[in-house]
Amino acid sequence: MIDNILYTLLTFLLLLIVVSFYFLLKIKFKNKIIEPPLDLPPLPIETETNDEILNEPISTKTFCINHHDVEYESTCQVCYAHLCHQCIHPVGSIHFCSTHLNLFRQEKWDLFLVLKTSPNNPELGVIAFDLKKSLWENQQIPIYIETGYEINVDQDRVDTILKFHTLENHLEYIKNVFREKDFVPTP
Ligand SMILES: [Zn+2]
Ligand SMILES: [Zn+2]
Repeated sequence: MIDNILYTLLTFLLLLIVVSFYFLLKIKFKNKIIEPPLDLPPLPIETETNDEILNEPISTKTFCINHHDVEYESTCQVCYAHLCHQCIHPVGSIHFCSTHLNLFRQEKWDLFLVLKTSPNNPELGVIAFDLKKSLWENQQIPIYIETGYEINVDQDRVDTILKFHTLENHLEYIKNVFREKDFVPTP
C-alpha cells in the first residue's frame, strides 16, 4: 500500500520535472528570438522625409574636401577644391583653401591680364577661365582672378572687369600662353 503511494508520488514528481523543464526551455527559446543582439547598430534617425529625398537627386550633392558629410559652399580660386563654410578663407570676394591662402599671403603675385567682358560678349571670359583651369590641372600653375564691375551709363549695361594674377616666377611664361590665345597681356 505505502509502496504504491510512493510510486505514484514519484511518478507525479518526475512528470512535474519533465513538464517544468519543457516550459523553461520554451521560455528561454522564445526570449532568444525576441531579444535583439547586443551589437545591433542603432536604427538610423530619419532627418529627411521621403518627399525631400525624392525631390533631391543624390548625385548633385558635393561635399567639402575636409568634411565629407558637409555640403560645399564654394571652391578655391586656385585649385578648385570644394570647400564648406568653415573651410573657405575669403580675401575680399576671392575664396581660397588654407594652402592657397598661405601661398597668396607669402608669395609675390603679379597682374598679367585685364579683361573687360559685357553681357553681350561673355565668350572672352569663358576662354580665359578655361585656360586658367587647364594651366592649374596640367602644370599646377596658380592663378587667381579679382572681379570688379563697371557701370556703363551710355550703353545701359554693367561690364565685368577680370584681373588675372599669377606668381612672379611664372609671369613671362603665362603671358606667352595667353598671347598665343589672342589675349593682350599687361606690358
Ligand atoms: Zn586651393
Ligand atoms: Zn570643410
